[in-house]
Amino acid sequence: MYDNLLANVPTDLWIGGKWKKASDGGRFDVIDPATEKTIASVASATVEDAIAAVDAAQAAFPAWAAKKPRERAEILRKAFEIIMRDAERFAKLITLENGKALSDSRGEVAYSAEFFRWYAEEAVRNLGSMSMAPASGARILAQHKPAGIAVLVTPWNFPAAMATRKIGPALAAGCPVVLKPASDTPLTMLALMPALEEAGVPPGVVNVIPSRSSGKVVSAMLHDPRVRVVSFTGSTEVGRKLLHEAADQILKPAMELGGNAPFLVFEDADIDAAIEGAMIAKMRNMGEACTAANRFYVHEKVHDEFAKKLSAKMASLKMGNGLDDGVAVGPLVNKEGRDKVVELVDDAVSKGAKILTGGKVPDGPGFFYPATVVTNVPDGAMMLNEEIFGPVASIQTFKTEEEAIKRANDTEYGLVAYLYTKDMSRGLRVSEKLEFGMIGLNRGLVSDPAAPFGGVKQSGLGREGAQEGMKEFLETQYISVTW
Ligand code: NAP
Repeated sequence: MYDNLLANVPTDLWIGGKWKKASDGGRFDVIDPATEKTIASVASATVEDAIAAVDAAQAAFPAWAAKKPRERAEILRKAFEIIMRDAERFAKLITLENGKALSDSRGEVAYSAEFFRWYAEEAVRNLGSMSMAPASGARILAQHKPAGIAVLVTPWNFPAAMATRKIGPALAAGCPVVLKPASDTPLTMLALMPALEEAGVPPGVVNVIPSRSSGKVVSAMLHDPRVRVVSFTGSTEVGRKLLHEAADQILKPAMELGGNAPFLVFEDADIDAAIEGAMIAKMRNMGEACTAANRFYVHEKVHDEFAKKLSAKMASLKMGNGLDDGVAVGPLVNKEGRDKVVELVDDAVSKGAKILTGGKVPDGPGFFYPATVVTNVPDGAMMLNEEIFGPVASIQTFKTEEEAIKRANDTEYGLVAYLYTKDMSRGLRVSEKLEFGMIGLNRGLVSDPAAPFGGVKQSGLGREGAQEGMKEFLETQYISVTW
């Protein structure tokens, strides 16, 4: 099964349109989290390789930036079509290295391809403006130019989508990129490179350099004067470090960081719809998502019904190897990820929380953790303040709208919040008071290539997707003209 799937997956560095070994010959292993077996050995880029990738991007930049927008758009559109043609192969590869259920991986492939289709459509709408200066009468001509070489750093939880959400807009804007994927899941992006080549992306426009020395390699690129943009998706802790580094050369930063999403269920909610939304918000990617519902706040009048129904749904999910039929809960990505979930659940239980379903690590290989519901979670439990990043729903109750809003906002994060109510005026009133970049109002899923994805507070800076996503890779130039 593995051999077939892995037969044509490249494992070297993709620099300037060629496969290269690491300059020091270094490699690292990629593990299947369902079996804990090594499935590939991947070249580990050095600082020298990273600078070679920037050289390649620099060489490709003028011609790519000068290409007519329609030509860039057609290449992006073709990339969308090729990914969809090979969707099943990409989906299986994602499951193999990340662990998520194949149904989740299929969803991710379609979502990631959409960033190429959407930005194929945006590439030709890079509009500027012209106006007259009110006092002098000079013309104010404003246009948007590619910002320059972009360094992209991505996490393991969506090995395809978190990268295409950056590559799509960067290429549409006319920027070449150097991507450093997460070390747990480098294969998906390496496998994408032949597809981009087939679509017509010229050598050097997209470079991929997995590395076990992330800190050094990324730092070297952020201090190379040819680099102008850093676009990062990952933890707030690493994002903060990269922002410090970006300051040295005043790089344009885009930061998609951690979340701690509240999920509010009001007493007038359609409970079955709320359960359906909760299952998506909690269990997409087995909870390994920045958008995962981390804290359920349920009105005390409907708590028992909600908790019972949610537990029944969670208990019905099949756990196993993500490649097997009918599996909805695959393994978590690695041992540290699972240990963290165990620690958070144990902490909550030791402080008085009650497990309604799940909560026990199964025997055998693989980093499995079952779908779990924990209620009576006391204030002060660690899982209310940290991203659980696993299939665990933690429930607390509230009495009033004000209390729900206060509890929801009681976090340094501000990525996404969800709320369920049949009263639209309440829905919009509460939405406006929630300090989050995105709101799911009677919806458990907000991600959409056509929507501006991003957070406030310590969840990040900038937006991905929509028209905003391309602006992260553009600079505005104003020309003052008299004629
Ligand atoms: P992470 O530890 O921050 O790693 C993310 C990426 O940064 C990986 O490629 C990692 O490489 C690299 N990295 C680690 N340390 C670095 C350093 N000192 N300098 C430069 N690069 C470094 O995050 P993760 O564990 O992969 O992903 C989970 C986190 O991502 C969660 O907090 C989640 O909320 C967040 N996330 C946010 C969004 C969003 O859109 N807001 C989306 C998805 C995930 P290595 O793999 O080699 O360590």
